[in-house]
Amino acid sequence: MFDWLVVGAGFAGSVLAERLASQRGDKVLIVDRRAHIGGNAFDWYDEAGILVHRYGPHIFHTNSDAIVRYLSQFTDWRSYEHRVLACVDGQLLPIPINLNTINRLYRLNLTSVEMERFLASRREGVDEPKTAEDVVVGTVGRELYEKFFRGYTRKQWGLDPSQLSRSVTARIPTRTDRDDRYFTDKFQCMPDGGYTRMFQRMLSHPNIKVMLQTDYREIRDAVPFRRLVYTGPIDEFFDFRLGRLPYRSLRFDHVTLDQARFQPVAVVNYPQTEAFTRITEYKHLTGQEHPQTSLTYEYPVSEGDPYYPVPNAQNEALYKQYEALAAQEPEVLFAGRLATYRYYNMDQVVGQALAAFERIRKASPLHGAAVAEVVG
Ligand code: FAD
Ligand code: UDP
Repeated sequence: MFDWLVVGAGFAGSVLAERLASQRGDKVLIVDRRAHIGGNAFDWYDEAGILVHRYGPHIFHTNSDAIVRYLSQFTDWRSYEHRVLACVDGQLLPIPINLNTINRLYRLNLTSVEMERFLASRREGVDEPKTAEDVVVGTVGRELYEKFFRGYTRKQWGLDPSQLSRSVTARIPTRTDRDDRYFTDKFQCMPDGGYTRMFQRMLSHPNIKVMLQTDYREIRDAVPFRRLVYTGPIDEFFDFRLGRLPYRSLRFDHVTLDQARFQPVAVVNYPQTEAFTRITEYKHLTGQEHPQTSLTYEYPVSEGDPYYPVPNAQNEALYKQYEALAAQEPEVLFAGRLATYRYYNMDQVVGQALAAFERIRKASPLHGAAVAEVVG
């Protein structure tokens, strides 16, 4: 008898499995329907021997010391500050928009103060920004919105920015200085040795059994377990009984070139006419030396593996109904990006899972009563 069946071996499932096994001595079976652990953070050495991410670029960044301390038990780190360029009107320009972006795009020589005035004269008055469009036009104006955001967002989400919640584009700041880092978190690093290696160490505990290429639905009646952690799509758990929650998918085109470098930074965004949204060149992320280079092109698609919850009011309302159903399942703990329908970064998922574990520890003595909660 397993104390826990954990569905999904991504960050949410692996952190919970590790904590339950190592801190409580619980016996855990973790299953994933994919052929590997690590969820969307999975990386592997491709045929050329280059470390690449199967599901697009994953850059670790956080302001939480506790999350770094926790993950550092399983990996060393390699310092890496992410920088992204956007291909706009034939030029490669820094994104998030900063002083250099504006000066190069418009062939100007503005100072930071002048850039403030420049933006003030262009931004549109938006009383209370609600949508992904409002946020951008209310900060940089319509022309820059159209060049950098509108096309990218329409491709990425299959929706106009006016149909998405503000949180989507609010992820991208605007800067009037020359800081061209994508993130400003105090901790920005990549796991030295890769994500998969880190997951292997998390899950290599004698109390954890890993089963891959196994769908939860195939084994739920065959394997005895006391409680369930579920990190897959929440609507699927309930057999879509309230309708489908939209998740955006991607097709990843992985290629290897016989040249040492392809582009100047790890990620170049294509917000204009191309069908793909971005190209990632992994050697920038990992620091690997190799005479060849491997890239991933991302093509957003509506059908396929669920990668992104789609943030808007309508979807949030449907999720709330599923959340209410989940609250009626005291033996099941829902965690992670798909099961709580949140556009979370990796550190946020780790934080959510660690918080859930603390609640289990408090609510339920060892091998004790059921966990009557849904992770919030
Ligand atoms: P997942 O990683 O999706 O894991 C869920 C697992 O559950 C999957 O492996 C799935 O196969 C399994 N599963 C589902 N249903 C079942 C079932 N019925 N039976 C068995 N198994 C099942 N975050 C960052 O912090 N930085 C980044 O740079 C970054 N870049 C990203 C780029 C892309 C293209 C994407 C898609 C995401 C990115 N993220 C990034 C977000 C990051 O991937 C997630 O925050 C994190 O991986 C979520 O972990 P999770 O465990 O919640 O979900
Ligand atoms: N975005 C954009 N242009 C860009 C970068 C981002 O329009 O050059 C918008 C787009 O809607 C995207 C969102 O901002 O989905 C969040 O970007 P982020 O890079 O955080 O996306 P992720 O890495 O999560 O795919």
